Amino acid sequence: MGVFDAVAIEGHEQILYGYDKTSGLEAIIAIHSTALGPALGGTRFYPYESEEDAVTDVLRLSKGMTYKAAAAGLDLGGGKAVIIGDPRQIKSERLFRAYGRIVDSLQGRYITAEDVGTTTSDMDVVRRETGWALGSSVALGGSGDPSPVTARGLYAASRAVAQKLWEDSDLAGRRFAVQGVGKVGSAFVQLLVEARAEVIVSDAYEPAIESAVEMYGVKPVEQSEIHMVDCDFFSPCALGASLNDKTIPELNCQAIVGSANNQLATDEDAARLADRGILYAPDFVVNAGGLINVYDELHGYSKTRAMHRVDSIFDATMRILDTAETHGINPNQAAIKVADERIRDIGDLRRFRRSGEDRN
Ligand code: NAD
Repeated sequence: MGVFDAVAIEGHEQILYGYDKTSGLEAIIAIHSTALGPALGGTRFYPYESEEDAVTDVLRLSKGMTYKAAAAGLDLGGGKAVIIGDPRQIKSERLFRAYGRIVDSLQGRYITAEDVGTTTSDMDVVRRETGWALGSSVALGGSGDPSPVTARGLYAASRAVAQKLWEDSDLAGRRFAVQGVGKVGSAFVQLLVEARAEVIVSDAYEPAIESAVEMYGVKPVEQSEIHMVDCDFFSPCALGASLNDKTIPELNCQAIVGSANNQLATDEDAARLADRGILYAPDFVVNAGGLINVYDELHGYSKTRAMHRVDSIFDATMRILDTAETHGINPNQAAIKVADERIRDIGDLRRFRRSGEDRN
């Protein structure tokens, strides 16, 4: 495949390859769209098996960010970066500073933050070379770990789904099966238990289960069984593609609300869920809390303002579910439709304003 072929398929605006021989930095930044604003998306640090895998991932993830930001009503485009390598082996100050200089060269067209394999303290280092890094630690004026905020967004979305399905947004007594109790999953479990919901959990990592059981008194099940649990909500909070042609027939839930990115293995899986009468709240709508939180840093971080906006995931979810109902489409199609329309309408307006500014 030629270097421009991959970019052309999904209409990306730009790909930047960054390299620093001394630290071993190999980074790829993909800007999918700046139609609604600067392309914001985290930096994933991962030992990809091949450069092609890394390119595929960064293109897919950056496009996802465009839709997430658009559906959340933010003035942001979509971008993402990957650093190739094992973060436990090659992380260093030099590597992150070299990376920060590459981010800086884009002059704010791309804004980075943490993602899988990077942390708030890594962003603190990146920030020493560029102002275009968010999600740094609270002590440095950043918004800190986004995970509890993402969980708060899931909670708001679950209430919207409950309202839609049962005309009662109260989650007390509702049964949740949470797949993955890492940073987001465990924070979500805490909110659910506080709301007096019944929670069943699983995780691939035994200490994570033990800690959830000990802290919140929830019930564990085998990793391979969590999606089969008889429940109101199945909540994928681990890895992507957990909703697929094998698991969907085995689901025993009324609705799905979870934090994992790309929960559907393929677009057809949204139709499979609809055929089974399971209400799927699209991942990129319900897991936008972390993005909304870091976005607020661009305006001088205010926790109150950020939480207010995160709570509006209730309205965003409701709007998607209503759109799906009105147009007779599934919620995933509805979310894409809402995001596409906003990118077109507001993107157009911004283009017009920019060209007007150029003339003056
Ligand atoms: P994490 O690594 O802290 O937690 C993931 C947990 O899932 C881990 O405990 C891991 O052991 C477990 N896990 C892995 N495979 C599993 C399996 N097959 N079955 C059960 N458990 C399994 O990550 P996180 O930050 O909590 O993020 C969880 C998901 O949400 C990821 O897909 C992430 O991309 C997405 N997400 C996170 C945020 C955020 O703010 N952290 C925001 C948006 C989306």
